[in-house]
Amino acid sequence: MTFSELINSIENLANLTNVTTEVIGFSTFNNPIYAFHVGSFAGKQVFMEGGIHAREYLSTLFLIEEIKFLNEMYQTNQFSKGGFYVVPLVNPDGVALVLDGIKSVKCEIQKQVLTLINNGSNNFNLWKANGLGVDLNVNFNAEWGKGDQNRVCPNSENFIGFYPESEREVQVLLNYIKQTNPGLTISWHTKGEVIYYGFYTLSSNSLARDYNIALELSKVNGYQVIKTEGSVGGFSDWVSLNLDVPAYTIELGSSAIPHPLTESNLQIAFNQNKQVPVVALEQIS
Ligand SMILES: [Zn+2]
Repeated sequence: MTFSELINSIENLANLTNVTTEVIGFSTFNNPIYAFHVGSFAGKQVFMEGGIHAREYLSTLFLIEEIKFLNEMYQTNQFSKGGFYVVPLVNPDGVALVLDGIKSVKCEIQKQVLTLINNGSNNFNLWKANGLGVDLNVNFNAEWGKGDQNRVCPNSENFIGFYPESEREVQVLLNYIKQTNPGLTISWHTKGEVIYYGFYTLSSNSLARDYNIALELSKVNGYQVIKTEGSVGGFSDWVSLNLDVPAYTIELGSSAIPHPLTESNLQIAFNQNKQVPVVALEQIS
């Protein structure tokens, strides 16, 4: 799959009846960041994002299919109240590197910098960061810089940025979520078939609430429920700290499959997880 094929599948979602499409901002390299709303604006809302880690673009492919699935359910009255805000590709520059390699970058000096960070290789299959070598899911202002694996220089993964929320993609996502008043959030990643919950700043009441809903989601996809440890600065961490609504990070795909998981892994992940957002909405309604 090429990056332009992936973008075409995202843009085609705009043709769906009843789905609201908008460009909520642009990445560092000026790629549009799309958001979609499915269902009713009345009632509780689930907020989901994917493709924040570049090599984990299976999460974007999943959300594209999920938007169609949820819209089909809504149109056939399988749920009538509540809706879903979905940002399927938070990190387009990074995913372009994984899918198209260094030729996806226009600036010559930046090509050299990225190749240097990537140890001289044009194989970006394992790249997680954005186009500046910042790992977006440790760039949020949620105990930023206190993570076990944090790095302080540009890297393919784990570089926290020079300051919290330095990255345009993170700013765009935060600007958007602040407009949506979500009742629950899901951050989709690969891999390991795990549901992470429970940022360490949560009160015991919130922790119990989030654990109980995680168990309900786990009944749907069969994934293991694990309390997050040693991870900070992520999207779910930010939600837990600032919104105090249930926030989950779900890792699609078996841990036995090597990164990057591709479209060949989509069907299994989709069948396992397509009802997860629906059950999440029921849990908060
Ligand atoms: Zn990830």
